[in-house]
Amino acid sequence: MRRTVDLEPQVARVLAPNPGPMSLDGTNTYVVGEPGSGRALVVDPGPDDAAHLAAVEAALAARGAECVAVLVTHHHVDHAEAAAPWAAHFGVPVMAGSAAVAGPRGRVLEPGERLDLAGTTIGVVPTPGHTSDHLAFRLESGAVLVGDHVLGRGTSVVTHPEGDVLAYLESLRRVHDLGPSALYCGHGPELTEDPGAVLDFYLAHRAYREQQLLDALGRGAATVDELVATVYAEYPREVWPAAAQSTRATLDKLRAEGRVEGGVEGTEQVRLA
Ligand SMILES: [Zn+2]
Repeated sequence: MRRTVDLEPQVARVLAPNPGPMSLDGTNTYVVGEPGSGRALVVDPGPDDAAHLAAVEAALAARGAECVAVLVTHHHVDHAEAAAPWAAHFGVPVMAGSAAVAGPRGRVLEPGERLDLAGTTIGVVPTPGHTSDHLAFRLESGAVLVGDHVLGRGTSVVTHPEGDVLAYLESLRRVHDLGPSALYCGHGPELTEDPGAVLDFYLAHRAYREQQLLDALGRGAATVDELVATVYAEYPREVWPAAAQSTRATLDKLRAEGRVEGGVEGTEQVRLA
């Protein structure tokens, strides 16, 4: 992926230098603002890295814009680490879904609120599931900045114990119902072709994983580690810890529905109820 790309008149994407098995090519930082307004937002600053800050400042300068706020989709360090230091550097507030990220001089965003900033309007879309504080940001163009709710490649993780599969599914439907023109992801390339179909795929994928777990349990009780080794057999082991989190989150849902029991403790067997 190229480091800095203009995605549409209001939006540039700046790729941070933190590639990895979960962060894919690295974190995507977005610079958003109406051209000519002289102002822009920085969304998901990412790692607190001097070269990355320089790249974001170059993107701001290319638009003749100064940063007026730092927005954050969720608290994970690969999105939020630079929020406080960069907000201090620019002399602007952090805006996020949790007080922990917004900090003492920042602002906790309300689900559904509309922000008039940088010559444009940003809709705050609650998208809990990956984490409990996750927000997406809907732009005037109809594109949605989705953070880690949807990734540009592969699928996202419902973290455990913070994440929530039912909330995640509801959030996928909520973004689907917005009829997004594009999904600008926290990692990986932007999704501009039929975003609704991508969201349908994510919903179907969750149902598929759930069925795989039930099928594996139908063959006998197993620990979470054994379930991961079965369901994610063809995936590299470096993603198994994340797969274990999604598996535990799915088991929480199935347990709440009375369909499985056990497996709350690490070594305990899970079985069909
Ligand atoms: Zn995340």
